[in-house]
Amino acid sequence: MIDLRSDTVTKPGDAMRQAMANAIVGDDILEHDPTVEKLETAVAQLLGKEAALFMPSGIMTNQIALRCHTQPGDEIILDSQAHIYYYEAGGPAALSGVSCNLIDGDRMRFTAEQVKTVLRPVNQHFAPTKLICIENTTNRGGGAIWPLEQIKEVHDLARENNIAMHLDGARLWNATAETGISEKDYSQYFDTISVCFSKGLGAPVGSVLAGPEAIMEKAHRFRRMFGGAMRQSGIIAAGALFALENNRDRLKQDHANAKKLADGIANLPGVKVEIQSVQTNILCFDVTTMPATEMVKKLKAHNIAMLNIGPQTVRAVTNLGVTENDIETTIKVFMEILN
Ligand SMILES: *Cc1c(COP(=O)(O)O)cnc(C)c1O
Repeated sequence: MIDLRSDTVTKPGDAMRQAMANAIVGDDILEHDPTVEKLETAVAQLLGKEAALFMPSGIMTNQIALRCHTQPGDEIILDSQAHIYYYEAGGPAALSGVSCNLIDGDRMRFTAEQVKTVLRPVNQHFAPTKLICIENTTNRGGGAIWPLEQIKEVHDLARENNIAMHLDGARLWNATAETGISEKDYSQYFDTISVCFSKGLGAPVGSVLAGPEAIMEKAHRFRRMFGGAMRQSGIIAAGALFALENNRDRLKQDHANAKKLADGIANLPGVKVEIQSVQTNILCFDVTTMPATEMVKKLKAHNIAMLNIGPQTVRAVTNLGVTENDIETTIKVFMEILN
């Protein structure tokens, strides 16, 4: 099976499993697990933040960030397609009691001007806006990268209005691999940053939330409250650490594969592909002569897995389990199905 459903399907390879098997561990709740500590220090340093905390999932790092920045009744601003809003099971309302003020950005990249239009005055009539969330790269935006300048403009507006900034950087690694702009240069515009190791980096489990000491102290308590405090978690942190050290540079190969796939199918009848739209490891394309579900079924019959994400839209995500050869095979299958 050539699995292009998501970059979460990646499995740990032998070297990563070795690193996990050999990890030095301790009780991370009673004291500190040394491998977890090593990972947290490395991520804090990479993102230029004072502290970082390892957690089981990206949803937890995002939702705990929200909880740290807000009180029930507050408001957060984010894109209408944001993972935090769209895919996190109502977390903002249930876990933090906040309302979401939504913006429709260009493939989820909204502008400071758009924020201005939804920002309400500070007075008794309105929910206080406490946080702006940005996703980079964008998931439902098809892997689009935020221009650094556009982030800075939103940041400057947030600062003027005493609003904090949170980055859902589940795929920040992909933005850095593609643009050469360092993780730190992106993260300078955010109070808190969530990064994920179980996507393109190929670790089995884990995310980290980074930020200033004062916020991370709160996050530490909420991690326990939310049930995310773990014991000998160095076993899984070792996978994340291995991924951080070894699998960031190779993301460029995933991006090249996504572009190759887009190129290879763009001129076939029955699909609408915008080659220009492929910036990282996600390719979203429209199917014009059958429903997306039908297309996914036909691909599956040829041992190729993709996801339908809209009635006519299919998504392919390249990842470290997919080779350039696999992409060539995939293109041939498309030719067979569509010609
Ligand atoms: C995958 C993802 C997350 C977190 O997902 P988990 O499965 O909880 O680790 C958060 N944000 C974005 C944009 C994602 O794609």
